[in-house]
Amino acid sequence: MKIKFLGVRGSLPTPLTNNEYHQRLREVITLALQKKIQIENIETFIESLPLNLRTVFGGNTTCVVVTSESGKSYVIDCGTGIRPLGDELIKGDCGQGKGEIHIFITHTHWDHIQGLPFFKPLYIKGNILNFYSPYIDLEERLIAQQRDSRFFPAPFEKTLSTKKFILLKPESPIVFDDGLTVDCYPLKHPDGSYAYRFKQNGKIFIFATDVEFTGEVFEKVGSETDFFLNADLLVIDSQYTLDESFFKFDWGHTAYTAAVNCGIRWHVKKLVLTHHEPSYSDEKLATIYTEALEHREAMKTQTPELFMAVEGLVFTL
Ligand SMILES: [Zn+2]
Ligand SMILES: [Zn+2]
Repeated sequence: MKIKFLGVRGSLPTPLTNNEYHQRLREVITLALQKKIQIENIETFIESLPLNLRTVFGGNTTCVVVTSESGKSYVIDCGTGIRPLGDELIKGDCGQGKGEIHIFITHTHWDHIQGLPFFKPLYIKGNILNFYSPYIDLEERLIAQQRDSRFFPAPFEKTLSTKKFILLKPESPIVFDDGLTVDCYPLKHPDGSYAYRFKQNGKIFIFATDVEFTGEVFEKVGSETDFFLNADLLVIDSQYTLDESFFKFDWGHTAYTAAVNCGIRWHVKKLVLTHHEPSYSDEKLATIYTEALEHREAMKTQTPELFMAVEGLVFTL
């Protein structure tokens, strides 16, 4: 399985501002002048920069694409990150009206569906879009967000692709013909959300946002949290700092410290922190990453391996 991040921002699209960009330019140019960098060493210099200077974490809202061993695309959520995926897909079968895409929906808060009206394969006759979720009214929800011409000119139900809606039951896996299995698990979030677990060739990838994991959840290593055990890769909501999570108790998101605790407790190999808070700058996200590493050290362990979700980041399992 190959897992690629196309949208990692929580709640609201968050472009880099001019002020942030100029501040970054100042810091990078100052460092380059201090180190007397030659043109032929630019790539090495970029690699050597601290995380906040070399990384734009990304402003698009949630979208991840899983490519199975057979090359099939499985998408999780339709945040604004799905727009560039659509642009890519129409260069292939989807541009000829011969594409088939499988889309899993965690829940229908705006930041998880607002990219769908800008997903070009939706408008091409012959493409088949299969939507999977435990929501019996998913079609109605998607029609509702794209119904009124005062807000968007093309109604969802009039788009030319074929849409199919497949209802999932928590912990009842769906098996695809390439051997990939997917099941889901309900999460604590306002109006609910679902985690998805992908398995293929003995590898496990779990995607779990939007969710408020607290001590009381991750300490249960009984049947209730078996779903999350032993993942090769767990992508987890970590929208807040610990302090902010106290102010935003019950808002349905997790502090990065609790996210790291989950990864340790559930014997996860690689843990990716995602659904970044829109008011956090890249600098703050880089600090959160350093503090997450320190928190793991304080827990006296080297696992899981920790990552921040970044647009364009790819994992191969
Ligand atoms: Zn969200
Ligand atoms: Zn949400």
